Amino acid sequence: MSLTTVGLSKLSTGPDSVGLREVTIEEPGPGQVLLEVISAGICGTDLHIADDEFPSTPPVTMGHEVTGEVRAIGEGVDPDLVDGRFAAETYFEYCESCGYCRTGSPNLCAQRRSFGSHVDGAFARWLILPAHNLHRLPDHVGWHAGSLAEPLACVTNCLFDPPVVNAGDTVLVTGPGTIGVLTAQAARAAGGDVTIVGLPADATRLDIAAGLGLRASALGAIEIVPDSFDVVCECSGAEAAGHLALESVRPRGRYVHVGIYGRPVTMELDRILYKEITYTSGFASTPRSWLRAMNLLDRQLVDLDPLVSEVVPIDEWRRAFDATRGAEGMKYVIDPRTGGEGD
Ligand SMILES: [Zn+2]
Ligand SMILES: [Zn+2]
Repeated sequence: MSLTTVGLSKLSTGPDSVGLREVTIEEPGPGQVLLEVISAGICGTDLHIADDEFPSTPPVTMGHEVTGEVRAIGEGVDPDLVDGRFAAETYFEYCESCGYCRTGSPNLCAQRRSFGSHVDGAFARWLILPAHNLHRLPDHVGWHAGSLAEPLACVTNCLFDPPVVNAGDTVLVTGPGTIGVLTAQAARAAGGDVTIVGLPADATRLDIAAGLGLRASALGAIEIVPDSFDVVCECSGAEAAGHLALESVRPRGRYVHVGIYGRPVTMELDRILYKEITYTSGFASTPRSWLRAMNLLDRQLVDLDPLVSEVVPIDEWRRAFDATRGAEGMKYVIDPRTGGEGD
């Protein structure tokens, strides 16, 4: 058995190196499943891959935020998985023997290879991945919103391992994009008293956050008092927001580095010393953070549905990439069953 599909791919390095490519998918090997992709979210990382700012091995199908149904299984895989609804962890392989792998942090393994950057990913109708990556989607989480389980697992890695939000903490989230709104919801689930802020241009995103019951404001419309928040979570990756967060966190407070700057930035690091701030972060996700993310979804403490701006056929990918780049709306997801293959 082999299947042919159209994959939205990083074709080479250099400018304008993303496009549709025909790919052949072999049958799943031992321990693997064949997933029929129903939804795959476009993420800032995909833009970084397109721009050669994030490592990849072209030609490779992009896409790592996925939901789908298992259509075939390899040797040794539980047949109960077939036809189940799943989201999936992104690591295709890691060494399993280094200290990070053995202590539950394969995200830090030097040998890790993820789908969507180094192995063919989810912007295609068919995806091969290890069966142990799968997490069952709760019935109330829709197919398209479910692809946001992956960024939620990145957020729970940042916020809860080690835990940085305690019940009753005042929490400032800067940047009302997908990651910011997920961070705000997760911090609220932990008992935080959350304020999320953005620029006046973020009005649509702030409205979505407000619709989720979050205190959401454009900067300028609310006063951010210096040294006032127990916890700040910088989710925008904008240098000015980093300065604001560092100014706003109280002495002995916690600063969480969530958004990626993507370039060297200038920060007043001595402020961390003078204020005795604890500065933490988190890279991608871990099996542990996935369990937390799925638990929060299960209990409806985090709502993903309002974050999906549009479901886009795969052959309209360029428009969705441009919209993501322009920070229009919130999250664009590709449905690879539409467009490309003509059905
Ligand atoms: Zn992502
Ligand atoms: Zn390892």
